[in-house]
Amino acid sequence: MEEGNCPTCGPGVRAENFLQAPSGKFLFSYVRCSACGLVFLNPRPQAAEMQGFYDEDYYGGEDRKFRSGLEVLRRLFARARARRAGRYFPSSGKVLDVGCGQGTFLQLMQGKGWKGYGTELSSRSASRALQAGVSVSVGEIRENQFPPDFFDLITFWQVLEHLRDPSAVLRRIRPLLKSGGIVAISTPNVESLQAKVFGGDWFHLDAPRHLFLFSPRTLGKFMAAHGFRLLALSHFSWEQNPYGWLQSFLNRVGFSNNSLYTLIKDDPPSLKRRFTLGVQGKIYILSAALLPICLLLSGVMGVRHRGGTIEAYFQLK
Ligand SMILES: [Zn+2]
Repeated sequence: MEEGNCPTCGPGVRAENFLQAPSGKFLFSYVRCSACGLVFLNPRPQAAEMQGFYDEDYYGGEDRKFRSGLEVLRRLFARARARRAGRYFPSSGKVLDVGCGQGTFLQLMQGKGWKGYGTELSSRSASRALQAGVSVSVGEIRENQFPPDFFDLITFWQVLEHLRDPSAVLRRIRPLLKSGGIVAISTPNVESLQAKVFGGDWFHLDAPRHLFLFSPRTLGKFMAAHGFRLLALSHFSWEQNPYGWLQSFLNRVGFSNNSLYTLIKDDPPSLKRRFTLGVQGKIYILSAALLPICLLLSGVMGVRHRGGTIEAYFQLK
């Protein structure tokens, strides 16, 4: 284990206990920066230890992440995201998707005339992106990988919270953006109602993979420290928030961690065997019963600005 720090305020700033989250046989601690309020994992696994928490099951099966019906839904959500991201630009340009997964978003942007580039840590996901015709490199962004003033848009879809050093990544990508360029970020909102209600059972907590838990306020401060101003912020994510409610409910009533998520991912037989057919049936029935409530809660929390995840657009000052 090693010490975690606030990416906005740096080491040496006091932090108070925030919450404890069990994950498997471990108990992880999140603390809250006394200066800016950002929540982060401390202590946290070393980089090499962390790989053990990203097994192949995390990324789903051979060709896709989810079972086929949900895969259609996943593409629809990605399409809506591509439409939202594109509305800030009068014409197509160049986009970098950090942690691009299997490249669905970039593929859709390319369909709109954009030139897409991606980086991805999982070589298996990256090879799927390559097969889909996306230019993707495995690993973190390297120095001089792209020329300065190259990108119109850089996106972090549910990625910023996973980065070991988000400040270093921001410093690296900032010069790559054209003047007036935009960074788009979606990330869990630690000040949402679902985070407050479920605490250590909250699906989007995802300890220890989520090293940083932002809120609209702490994300704004972090981005301001890197020279970005907020353009737009949304608390409505139909892609993330209803599911956040649903899986958190299931976690809370004792269906072991992220049971439904395990069942709906494509082809992870080793994990599915943890649930007997009877238990699987209960999980599906309970999910169907809870889904309308979860959709309603997500809508209400979107209006109340307490969404379980947020989507924010920042512009270089
Ligand atoms: Zn701080």
